[in-house]
Amino acid sequence: MIPAKYSFLRKELPKRSIRKLIDVVYRRKVERHIFLPSGFSFYLVRGREGAYIVFDRNYCSCIDFLLSVIIREERKLCYHIAAVMMAEDMNLVRTIEHKDDELETVLREIFMQ
Ligand SMILES: [Zn+2]
Repeated sequence: MIPAKYSFLRKELPKRSIRKLIDVVYRRKVERHIFLPSGFSFYLVRGREGAYIVFDRNYCSCIDFLLSVIIREERKLCYHIAAVMMAEDMNLVRTIEHKDDELETVLREIFMQ
């Protein structure tokens, strides 16, 4: 289920995160929201516990990223970032386009969930 290229994730992430990772990638819960005409974009990973924003594959808005990556420096990524990498590689990302002036509304909807 995990492509060989990403087998390193089995060491990097806890077992429960691997299950969630496979779930969000194959269920196509990884979205790329792109704003036009600027081209600004971010990813949104809709996990069971909530939807989290991933920027540039090196920042995620989840608590695990804050605790395990930034504060405790135990890992380099959370499963949401891994999901973005894998889904992009496997062509499983859903792209959603918006107009630039919809950015604030879209962000508010995400954070209100
Ligand atoms: Zn995350």
